[in-house]
Amino acid sequence: MDLCKNCGRVLEKDEIAIYKRMVNRGATDFLCVACLAAHFNVSEDMIKEKIDHFRKMGCTLFE
Ligand SMILES: [Zn+2]
Repeated sequence: MDLCKNCGRVLEKDEIAIYKRMVNRGATDFLCVACLAAHFNVSEDMIKEKIDHFRKMGCTLFE
């Protein structure tokens, strides 16, 4: 299982997927939504909206 490289929380598949979409498709370590939001200086809700957006587009990275 994958852990957030910043805070060590267990990651959900969508968190890995959004990291790949927003940061680096070939990444092998990831940030959770909270740490990713802090990294980009945006709200967690913004990240969650992006997850929804990509899922609705049918991106295969998302469940
Ligand atoms: Zn984290």
